[in-house]
Amino acid sequence: MNPLHLNDRPGEFPPSWYAATAKPLPQRTALEGEVTADVCIVGAGYTGLTAALTLAEKGLKVIVLEAHRIGWGASGRNGGQVGSAYNKGQRWIEKRVGFARAKAMWDLAEESKALVADLSARHAPEARLLPGIAHGEYTARELSGVTAEAEHLSVRYDYDKITVLGPQDFAGLVCSPLYHGGMIDRGAGHIHPLRYVIGLGKAALAAGAEVFEGSEVLKIEHGDPAILTTAKGRVRAGHVILAGNGYLPHLAKEVARKVMPINSFIGATPPLGDLARKVLSEDIAACDSSHLVNYFRTTEDGRLLFGGRANYSLKFPDDIGTALNRRMQEMFPQLRGVGFDHVWGGTLGVTMTRLPAVLRIAPNIVSASGYSGHGVALAGIAGKVMAEAVAGQASRFETLAALPSRPFPFGAHLQEPTMTLAMVWYRLRDRLGH
Ligand SMILES: Cc1cc2nc3c(=O)[nH]c(=O)nc-3n(C[C@H](O)[C@H](O)[C@H](O)COP(=O)(O)OP(=O)(O)OC[C@H]3O[C@@H](n4cnc5c(N)ncnc54)[C@H](O)[C@@H]3O)c2cc1C
Repeated sequence: MNPLHLNDRPGEFPPSWYAATAKPLPQRTALEGEVTADVCIVGAGYTGLTAALTLAEKGLKVIVLEAHRIGWGASGRNGGQVGSAYNKGQRWIEKRVGFARAKAMWDLAEESKALVADLSARHAPEARLLPGIAHGEYTARELSGVTAEAEHLSVRYDYDKITVLGPQDFAGLVCSPLYHGGMIDRGAGHIHPLRYVIGLGKAALAAGAEVFEGSEVLKIEHGDPAILTTAKGRVRAGHVILAGNGYLPHLAKEVARKVMPINSFIGATPPLGDLARKVLSEDIAACDSSHLVNYFRTTEDGRLLFGGRANYSLKFPDDIGTALNRRMQEMFPQLRGVGFDHVWGGTLGVTMTRLPAVLRIAPNIVSASGYSGHGVALAGIAGKVMAEAVAGQASRFETLAALPSRPFPFGAHLQEPTMTLAMVWYRLRDRLGH
């Protein structure tokens, strides 16, 4: 049941529109024999590569072990939405940690978007970071909740990039009859995720990090040094950063208590020509809070990428496209008869509170995962603050580690049938809006 080996061909990118429009880096060799490092990082997605880049730029000897390819995980196949804040409103967070801490957490989330902007401009301009995420609401009650949060952000956080729109104005922006208004956040954005993570990989390598692909970490022995074992090699490392997100619960039981893997799926239509602007009237991304979470945006060649969560099993369904397409057509009747050229799925990590799980597992082992659909921005800052913690500056790491969290009631046993039970329970909780 390890999602690293369940749904994809080993070492190959999924059949996504992203893989069809990005140039992967040349394949890197697998680890063989024993090597030493100041820091060993498990996973080459946004979290691991941002940490690797930060540490390699400080002159540390960094080794990244990646089970498949650079960008193979969620970072290379997601919806590309670079969202603001967290998957919980600031008022919710303030109630639990107080305003001062909530503000420090908000500041890191703001920095996370700036980090994506900076790193993509320097290392992956072809990833085309564009501004704007709209959020659709299904009811007047949801709309008033969004209005209250936007006002709060404006008054308490000086964040004035959100405009709330009533049903008619919102339908002019996101042209679906299902929404009852919504908002547009011009401080958020969207990006080609695979081009971005490949750019990060290139930058980390250029800064001196070593990356071994096809090198799954099978075991970690705690200690100083910590010892990480792959099929053909071992790394003795002064510090370890776990950056495997949704795949991590299978490697580290400390993470499994707080993070659960789930799958999400995306379909890419053929180029839509003029019809594209009759779905989204601007080049923005959009999403909503339906229990399956719909997210969509148009591409540089005028396709609609339509994504959502479709199942709570770790195994991808045999037919990903049919249910996704049905939902797309319900949402956008103007797309009747339009199919998908590409469909793919991916695994991400979610937590009980929907806030990232940033953990110190041992004095020299840290981990960040469970971004709960907000990782395109947050994974980078989490990687950066873990790198800072390794280099001796842990205060920003501690800020993220203080995000409210709770263990899953099912414990650290991600085996069938516990996993199935956990997923059914999570779905129920989702539907009830908790
Ligand atoms: C379909 C989909 C849509 C999404 N849409 C959005 C979105 O629009 N906006 C947003 O903010 N977030 C979104 N997300 C979530 C986001 O993609 C993730 O939060 C983010 O990419 C996490 O980055 P990461 O580097 O932590 O993990 P990943 O990118 O998953 O990278 C982890 C890497 O670790 C490797 N690995 C794992 N275990 C081991 C091991 N034992 N040994 C060696 N290597 C290992 C994996 O092979 C993988 O490459 C989406 C996710 C999916 C799947």
